[in-house]
Amino acid sequence: MKPTERKYFQDSNFLEFSATVVEVKPSEHGDCVVLDQTAFYPTGGGQPNDTGSLGEARVVDVFEDEANIIYHLVQAGSFEPGQTVSGVVDRGRRLDHLQQHSGQHLLSQAFVQTCGAETRSFHLGSQTSTIDIELQSPTDELMRGAEDLANGIVFEDRPMRVHLVNEEEAALLPLRKESAVRGNIRVIEIENFDWSPCGGTHAARTGQIGLIAIRSYERFRKMTRIEFVCGGRALAEYRLAKDTAFAVARLFSSEREKSPELVAAALQENKGLKRRIRDLLELAMSAEAAEVLAAAPASQSFKIVQREPSVALLATKDAGGARLVFARSDSLTQNMNELLAEACQTLGGRGGGKPELAQGGGPNVERLEEALGAASSKIKGFSGEPLVN
Ligand SMILES: [Zn+2]
Repeated sequence: MKPTERKYFQDSNFLEFSATVVEVKPSEHGDCVVLDQTAFYPTGGGQPNDTGSLGEARVVDVFEDEANIIYHLVQAGSFEPGQTVSGVVDRGRRLDHLQQHSGQHLLSQAFVQTCGAETRSFHLGSQTSTIDIELQSPTDELMRGAEDLANGIVFEDRPMRVHLVNEEEAALLPLRKESAVRGNIRVIEIENFDWSPCGGTHAARTGQIGLIAIRSYERFRKMTRIEFVCGGRALAEYRLAKDTAFAVARLFSSEREKSPELVAAALQENKGLKRRIRDLLELAMSAEAAEVLAAAPASQSFKIVQREPSVALLATKDAGGARLVFARSDSLTQNMNELLAEACQTLGGRGGGKPELAQGGGPNVERLEEALGAASSKIKGFSGEPLVN
C-alpha cells in the first residue's frame, strides 16, 4: 500500500473531502478503514487524533503505521475497497488542537528568545498542554516575559506558512529544532519568528490561536514543565478563575482584589479561636473534676497536680474509704483510666472512665498516698509534688 495522502498538510481548515477506500482491516474495536487520501489527523507528535465521520459512520480514532498509512477506526458502518466515501472532520476539536499546537510553537520560540530555553517535549492534554523546557531557575518574571512575547505575536496576526522542503532546503532555514524525519520535511513558519519541522495541524495566522496563557510551572526532571492553555481553553480558564475569585470575594462581601488579604486574616483569626477553645475546654474539664470532688462526702481531700498542660489527680477520704478523680487535657496522651485502675487496686477498690477522665475509689485509706505517688510518677514529665489540702 502507498502512504496515505494527507490533505491537512497544506491547509488545516480543509475539513470535508471525498476519498476512495483502499482497504478495510477488521480489529477487536471495529473496522479500520484505509483511504487513498484523508483530512483526518492521526495521533502523533504530542497531538491527539481528529474525530468526525466517514459516510454515516463515526470515526472514533485515527492512527498511522510505520509505512505512513493512516487508519480510520469506525463505529459500525460497512466499507468496501474501491468505494467512494465522504469524510467530515469535527471542526471544534480540530480548532482546539490547532490552537494549542500553534500556541506551543509560539511559546517555545518565545522561551528561546527570552531566556534561551529549548523545548524538549510537548504534550497536548484534554484540559491543558505542557512543554518541558531547558530552564533551571524558573520565575514568575521569566514566565511573564515569554507569555508577553508570544501574545504580542498573536496580536500582530502574523501569517503561518507550510513549507514542504527537502533536506538541503531545510538546512538553509533557521530551524528551532532538528527534523526527526528524512527526505521531504514539512516546516511550519511563523512569519519572521519561528521555523519548526512539524507534522501537526496549525493555524493559518497567529490571530486564530487566540490568547496564550501559562497556567502553572514547576521543576521537572532537571527541566521546567510549563502548563499552558490557548484560545478557547484560555477563555474557559479565565471564566473558571474569575468565577472562583468572585465567589470568594462574595463570601467576604469585598472586592475581588482584596479577598486574598481577607482570607489570610480569617485563617489567622481562626487559629487564635482554636487556641482559645482549647484553653476553655481545659478549664471546663478542671471544673468538672472539681465538681465531682466537691460532691464527694469529704472530710479531707488531696489535690495533686494543676500544671500546664494539665493533669489533675484528685482524692478525698473519709471513714468509708478514699475516692479518686484523675483527669487530663485533650492534648496529652496518658491514659487516666489505666492509671486510675492501678490506683484503685492499691486502695482495694475499683473504678473506671475514659482515657481523659476517670473516677473510682477503695477502702484502704492508709495506702492513699502510695497510690497517688505511683500514679504521679507514671505521668511523663510530671515534676510537681503532691499538694495536700
Ligand atoms: Zn507543530
